[in-house]
Amino acid sequence: DKVDGAIWLDFDIHHSHHAVPEAERVAKLKDPGFGRVFTDHMATVRYSQDKGWHSARIEARSNFQLDPAAAVLHYAQEIFEGLKAYVREDGGVNLFRPDANAKRFWNSATRMAMAPLPEPVFIEAVEQLVRIDRAWIPGGEGSLYLRPFMIANETFLGVKPSSEYIFGVIASPVGSYFKGGPAPVSIYASENYTRAAVGGTGAVKCGGNYAASLRAQAEAMDHGCDQVVFLDAVERKYIEELGGMNVFFVFEDGSLSTPPLGTILPGITRDSIIALAKSAGVTVREELYSLDQWRADAASGKLKEAFACGTAAVISPIGKVRTTSGEFLINGGEAGKVAMGLRKQLVDIQYGRAPDPQNWIR
Ligand code: PMP
Repeated sequence: DKVDGAIWLDFDIHHSHHAVPEAERVAKLKDPGFGRVFTDHMATVRYSQDKGWHSARIEARSNFQLDPAAAVLHYAQEIFEGLKAYVREDGGVNLFRPDANAKRFWNSATRMAMAPLPEPVFIEAVEQLVRIDRAWIPGGEGSLYLRPFMIANETFLGVKPSSEYIFGVIASPVGSYFKGGPAPVSIYASENYTRAAVGGTGAVKCGGNYAASLRAQAEAMDHGCDQVVFLDAVERKYIEELGGMNVFFVFEDGSLSTPPLGTILPGITRDSIIALAKSAGVTVREELYSLDQWRADAASGKLKEAFACGTAAVISPIGKVRTTSGEFLINGGEAGKVAMGLRKQLVDIQYGRAPDPQNWIR
C-alpha cells in the first residue's frame, strides 16, 4: 500500500475485543473531567521514507512499542492538535473546522521537519474514529475531545529529521467546562519566562512549546493565579497569549483587539471569533498591546473586558491580572457581556443550534 504522493488512504477497521462495557462507559460519561477518560479505539497511520504514508488503521486503543532510541524520546520531534466532536439535538455529530486543524498540523509538521500528513487523511482518521466511538460522545454540553498527534519513530541517535513517523488520533470525552456558569480566570504575567521568539516554534503546536511553558505556569499558580500570560521575547512588554489560549481585549467603543500572529499559536477559536465579530460589523484590530497599556486602560475604563479563547474552554473571561508590581481587575472581576455573547454564538454553531453561514461544521 505505497501511497507516495497520494492524498487518500483507506483505513482498515479492527473493532476492539475489550471495549469498555456499556454500564461502565455510561458511568464514566457522567463526570469525565478533562483528558483522563479515553474511548475504545484509536486511529494510526505509519510513515517511512520508502513507503510514504501507509498502514492506516482504526484499532483498539493500546500501547505503542517504541525503541528506547526512538527519535521522539530524545529530540522531541512531536506535534499535536486538539478539536472536538459535538452531539446535535437531532443526534447527528458535528466537527468544528477540522480542515483548519489539518492545515495547522501540516504547518506544524513542516516547521518541525516532519513528514506532513495530507489533509484528507487527517480528516478521515478523525471522522472514522468519531464514527466507531460515537457512543463515547457525552450529550448535553459535553463533547468528545480529539487529539491527533505525530511522533518521530526512527531508531537513531543522530540529530536529524526522523525517517519514520507514527500519526495517531485518540479521543477523550470531556464535560462542560463551566459547571454552574462562567468562572472568570485570574492570570499571572510572566516576567521571568517567555514562550516564543521570532524564528522559533511559537506558531506551531509542538510538544516542546508546552514542556517549556510548564515552569511559567507553575509560577503563575504559586502566585495564586489560574493561568500564565506570556509577554513578547524582545521587549518583554507586549501581551502574547496564555499557556493554551489566545487573548482578546474589548474596548468601550465596542471594538476588539487581539495580538497579531507571528510568535503565537494561530488559534482556530481566535480566527472564528474575529470572523464572527467582523460579520457583525464589529471592528477587530490585530495589534500589539502592552501590559502597561492594559493596566492603564483597565484603570481609565477604556477597557471593558478581556477574555481568553481556545478549543477546550471556548471563551474564558479574564477577571484579574497579576504582575510583580501588583494586580488589577477587569470588569470588576466579573464575566463580561461581550465575552459571554461571543461564547454563546460560537457554542450554538458548534452544537448545530444556530445557522453556520461560514460552513465551519462538518
Ligand atoms: N494558544 C495555545 C498555546 C494553545 O495551545 C491553544 C490550544 N490549541 C490555543 C492558543 C487556542 O487554539 P485553538 O483555538 O485552535 O484551540
